[in-house]
Amino acid sequence: MTPRSFVCPSPDCSHSTGGAAELAEHVNTEHSGEFRRKDWPATEAGRASLARDRVEDKE
Ligand SMILES: [Zn+2]
Repeated sequence: MTPRSFVCPSPDCSHSTGGAAELAEHVNTEHSGEFRRKDWPATEAGRASLARDRVEDKE
């Protein structure tokens, strides 16, 4: 059995972490705006990042 890990969905990045929240933070920091693109993979972290960003945008 291998430990569960979350790998960055960006094709140019091999960053991985042990938690979806950490990955979402990495995406927001390292790939700001990139996950909005149409070709961004539909991953848990990607959707979480989008949802969180929208909530923050409502201010
Ligand atoms: Zn990355």
